[in-house]
Amino acid sequence: MTHTPPTTDASPEPGRSRPRASLALWLQAAAALMWLPQAAALALGVGRIAEGGGATAMLAPAAALIGFGALRAGLDAAGQRLAFRDARAELSRLRFNATRALAARSPLDAGRAPSGLAASVLAEQAEAVTAYVARFQPARFKATAVPLVILACVAPLSWLAALILMAAAPLIPLFMALVGWRAKAASERQFVAMGEMNGFLLDRLRGLDAIRSAGAVEATAQRVRAEADGLRRRAMAVLRIAFLSSAVLELFSALGVALVAVYVGFNLLGQIPFGAWGGRLSLPEGLFVLLLAPAFFEPLRELSAAWHDRASGQAALEALERLAAPGRMALPGAVDEPAFAPPFGPAPVVRLKGLRFAHDGAERPALDGFSLVVAPGERVAVLGPSGTGKSTLLALIAGLAPAAGGRILIGGAEMTPDTAAALRARMVWIGQTPHVFSGSLSRNVRLGRPDIGRVQAERALRATALGPLLDRRGDAAVGENGLGLSGGETLRLALARLAVAPGATLVLADEPTAHLDRETARQIMDALIALSAGRTLIVATHDPELAARMDRIVRFDDARLEDAA
Ligand code: ADP
Ligand code: MG
Repeated sequence: MTHTPPTTDASPEPGRSRPRASLALWLQAAAALMWLPQAAALALGVGRIAEGGGATAMLAPAAALIGFGALRAGLDAAGQRLAFRDARAELSRLRFNATRALAARSPLDAGRAPSGLAASVLAEQAEAVTAYVARFQPARFKATAVPLVILACVAPLSWLAALILMAAAPLIPLFMALVGWRAKAASERQFVAMGEMNGFLLDRLRGLDAIRSAGAVEATAQRVRAEADGLRRRAMAVLRIAFLSSAVLELFSALGVALVAVYVGFNLLGQIPFGAWGGRLSLPEGLFVLLLAPAFFEPLRELSAAWHDRASGQAALEALERLAAPGRMALPGAVDEPAFAPPFGPAPVVRLKGLRFAHDGAERPALDGFSLVVAPGERVAVLGPSGTGKSTLLALIAGLAPAAGGRILIGGAEMTPDTAAALRARMVWIGQTPHVFSGSLSRNVRLGRPDIGRVQAERALRATALGPLLDRRGDAAVGENGLGLSGGETLRLALARLAVAPGATLVLADEPTAHLDRETARQIMDALIALSAGRTLIVATHDPELAARMDRIVRFDDARLEDAA
C-alpha cells in the first residue's frame, strides 16, 4: 500500500516564536517588579515619620507609592490581556491543525482516532492550553526572574536576609518538581480516562437500540458507573497532589518570611548586630528588606497556584499533537483544497486500469488488477455478493484512499493527490445510510454550501418526493443520524443533495437500497435514475433486480475482470 506523505505542515511547529507571548511575559514581570520602588517609597516614608518629619515630608513617598501602584496595575492588566489573547490564538491554531489532520485521514483508515476521543480532546481537553499559556507560562517566567531581582536588592543591604531567602527558596522548586512530576502523570491518566469515557458514551448512545434489543442496558449502565467511579478516583488523586504542593509551598514561604522578620526585628533592636554590611540596618533599610520578603515568595506562590495548569496543559498539548499527527493512510488531496468550482462539464468517462488495493491487515487484497471503462453518461451496476470489494472500489474512484497500484482516470484526468480534491468536487456519493445532521431538512440539503439557497434546497426536496414531509416538518430539526426519518426518506434526502449539485457529473452510489423494502427500493432507484440523467452513474449492489435496471452490469464475483481497458 502506498503511504502518501503529508503534503503540508499539519503538525504544530514547536519552535515557532510568538513575539506577543514574550512581550506579555515581560510586561507581567515588570508589573511584579514595581513593588520594589513601592516598598522603597514606603520604607522611606516611615523612616521620615520616625525622624519626626511632618506631613509634607510624606508627600513625595506617598505620591511615588500611588504612582507606581497605578503603573503596576496597568502593566499587569496589559500583560495578562496580551497573554490571554496569545493563548486563544495558539489554541485556535492547534485546534485547526488537529482538525485539518483528522480531515486529511482516509475514511478507510481503521486507525483513526475514535470520534468520542477526538471530540473530547478538541473541545474539552484543548481548553487546558489556555490556562497553560496564559497563566502557567507567565507565572514560571516571573518565578525565575522576579526573586533574583529582589535578591539582588536585598543582598547589598543585608547578606543574612539574602541568605535566609536563598535557603528557603530552592527547597520550594525542588518539592514542587517532585510533586509536579506526579501531578502530570495523574493528570494525563485523568484525561485519558475522560477521553475513553467520552468515546464509550458516544459509541453506546449511538448504538442504544442495539444495546436495548440485546437486553444489555443494565450491563452497559454498570460499565458507565464503573468508569465514572474510576474517573472520580483519578480526579481526587490529582486534587490531592495539588493540595500537597500548595501545603509544601506555604510552609516554606511562611518560614522564610518569619525568619527574615525575626532577624530584621532583632537587628533593629540591636540584639543581632550582624548580617548587614555595616553591622546594623537603619529603620528604612530594615523595613525595605522586610517588605521585600513576602514579595520574594509571591511569584513562587503564583507558580504553585498555576502548577496544575502545567500538567493538564502539557497533557492537552500532547493529545492535540497526537491528533495532528498524520495517519497511516492519507486522504489524497484533502488539505489545502484548491479554490475549485466544478465545471458544468459533460458527464465524464471513467477509466480504471489494473486497480489494486489491500486493507490494513487483510489476508488478501480487496482489489487485485481491476479494470473497467464506464462511458460518459453510462449507468453501470457493479454487482457482487457482500465483502467482494465493491465499497472499496467506489472509495478508490472517489479518491478517498490511495490505490496501491493501477490508474484511475476521470474525464481524462488522472487521480493523483494533486487532482483528487478537484475530481471529488465533481462527484456525489450516495451511501447506504447517508448521514443526516441534526438540523432542518433544508439545511441538511444545503450542508453549509453558500451557493445553494433555501428555495433551491426546498425545490430539490420536493423533486425527490419529500414535499409532504417538508410541509409537515417545516424548519423543525431532524434528529441526529436521521432520527425520525424512515430509511427511504433518508435516501431521498441524499438524492436531494445530489439534485442541488449540478456540477457533480459522476454519481457513486454504494448499495443505496440494500436495507429498503422492494417497493421503496424501486422508487428510490427510479428517482436515482431520473436524477442521474446526463451524469455518469456507478451503483454498487448485490441485488440483481436493481442491477438489471442499469445500462450494463459488471459482475464482481469474478475478481479479475479484464473488461476492455
Ligand atoms: P463490499 O462493499 O463488496 O461488501 P468491501 O469493499 O466493503 O466489500 O470490503 C471488501 C473486503 O475488505 C472485505 O473483506 C472487508 O472485510 C474488507 N474491508 C473493508 N473495509 C475495510 C477497512 N476499513 N479495513 C480493513 N478491511 C476492510
Ligand atoms: Mg459495501
